[in-house]
Amino acid sequence: DPGLLGSLPGSRKGRGGSPSGESGGGLGPRTPGESQCGVKKLMPSSGLTNSSIPRFGVKTDQEELLSKELENLNKWGLNIFHVSEYSSSRSLSCIMYTIFQERELLKTFKIPVETLLTYVLTLEEHYHADVAYHNSLHAADVIQSTHVLLATPALDAVFTDLEILAALFAAAIHDVDHPGVSNQFLINTNSELALMYNDESVLENHHLAVGFKLLQEENCDIFQSLGKRQRQMLRKMVIDMVLATDMSKHMSLLADLKTMVETKKVTSSGVLLLDNYTDRIQVLRNMVHCADLSNPTKPLELYRQWTDRIMEEFFRQGDKERERGMEISPMCDKHTASVEKSQVRAGPRAGGPVLPGGACSPGWLAGAGQGSDRTCSSPWRSVGRS
Ligand SMILES: [Zn+2]
Repeated sequence: DPGLLGSLPGSRKGRGGSPSGESGGGLGPRTPGESQCGVKKLMPSSGLTNSSIPRFGVKTDQEELLSKELENLNKWGLNIFHVSEYSSSRSLSCIMYTIFQERELLKTFKIPVETLLTYVLTLEEHYHADVAYHNSLHAADVIQSTHVLLATPALDAVFTDLEILAALFAAAIHDVDHPGVSNQFLINTNSELALMYNDESVLENHHLAVGFKLLQEENCDIFQSLGKRQRQMLRKMVIDMVLATDMSKHMSLLADLKTMVETKKVTSSGVLLLDNYTDRIQVLRNMVHCADLSNPTKPLELYRQWTDRIMEEFFRQGDKERERGMEISPMCDKHTASVEKSQVRAGPRAGGPVLPGGACSPGWLAGAGQGSDRTCSSPWRSVGRS
């Protein structure tokens, strides 16, 4: 579908073989019908009509169990693994649809319900089910965590509806089409994506491009009723938030936030006074970033599962590096990682081993050993106690 390819960054139109000599340099082989920019050729529309829309947006024969779990929608401890189990592995579609309903965003922004569902299902399809960590379950977790953080009392009524819409959308798309390898791997293998984005926030740029591109698919434009100015504003904010999920930006993000919080006024009712765009977007970009790194702050049974998944993803990258005769990235060597694994689990709370920071995402592993970073320490302590 050359029409789809023409304008998208990451397009491989006209290439005669990738510089790395492999499809996408770490991006798996494309399935037939999938265009070369990460946007798949879509199935014909599912023919959803208002009357046939399931309660939580996805077809399931376990709606009762799903309903029970979704009672925790507004809580930090919601078990997204259960949501996935009860929604035929459509956790992202289910949770995004339910959060949008809960927050009445369909009414506020006149989003047709079929359009929302078509978009979320399309988006979920563009996460790789065969990637161990950065799949749609992680995206579902991040959007739900963002949803909870947005409701924090200290930020009551601080954000506009458009800012809330932008934050949730950013969380939903923030890792779409993730190939399961890090920016550094893509750069080191001269991948097509690294070439396209000049080694700068390679994956984050790609996630954004795909997330926005999918809005152009049939009946996918959930922002169709927004005015031009609103669309521009939303796009600007989403780009800001997703680019801020790049772990190489973590330290400066944190330093800026610290400065801002220290100088910020609080209203008589204890609500943070954020009266300009610069301050509000700063809090929002940190919020999505925190949600992205929130695994260690969740109940231990959930945190363990996330750790297993990220280690599996790292080991697969390590295997690829070994096959290519490359130096194996930190934490990515399955032959030496049993030690590292226990360090990862016990370390940061116990004063911690020094793990090389920033080499692999997510930061709660890669940055965890940077012991002076006390801003992130309270979640670790609480996990330690449970
Ligand atoms: Zn992420």
